[in-house]
Amino acid sequence: MKQVTLHDLTFEPFISAAEIDSTVASLAAQIDNDYRGRNPILLIVLNGAFIFAADLVRKITIPIRLDFIKISSYKGTESTGKMDEHFLWKSNLEGEHVIIVEDIVDTGHTLNYLKEKIGSQHPASVEVTCLLKKPTAYKYDDHLRYEGMSIEDKFVVGYGLDYNGLGRDLDSIYKRSGS
Ligand code: 5GP
Repeated sequence: MKQVTLHDLTFEPFISAAEIDSTVASLAAQIDNDYRGRNPILLIVLNGAFIFAADLVRKITIPIRLDFIKISSYKGTESTGKMDEHFLWKSNLEGEHVIIVEDIVDTGHTLNYLKEKIGSQHPASVEVTCLLKKPTAYKYDDHLRYEGMSIEDKFVVGYGLDYNGLGRDLDSIYKRSGS
């Protein structure tokens, strides 16, 4: 695999498609096991989680429902901490078992904001699955139930994740070179 250039930045191969696939399979197996008989709602956080979610839901074998929220706090390679919410899910979450599906958890502000919004609808339970987490950047104490891979605090693209609109279509994950 070669480096890729997106806008003004260069990225190098970081996590292979095979590693991603086995991580997603393991998350799906855990969800299958824990949610049998509960028909959870997976709330998919757009845009970045769309490829992770598409792979995850096809590996989960128990009945699930899906809904989507579009939200962003990133500009370029930095989290702004300010949420830009484009639309909210349509489901009534009262009494439901909700699993938030996030691509990557960095500071945790996006997740914390979402958890508060969801909590106000009185779901039966709320858990989180994310493909990637940057533990050194995370600003909260809680443990995420279904965490894929922990990575260093570097800006990554590919497999749904973009740099100013480019890179979402790469089938593996790349990290910013020289950072
Ligand atoms: P947080 O609110 O946890 O700081 O940031 C979470 C969101 O920021 C993610 O859903 C993702 O959209 C974006 N994000 C965080 N880290 C990265 C990264 O390394 N690369 C990309 N492309 N987006 C990121």
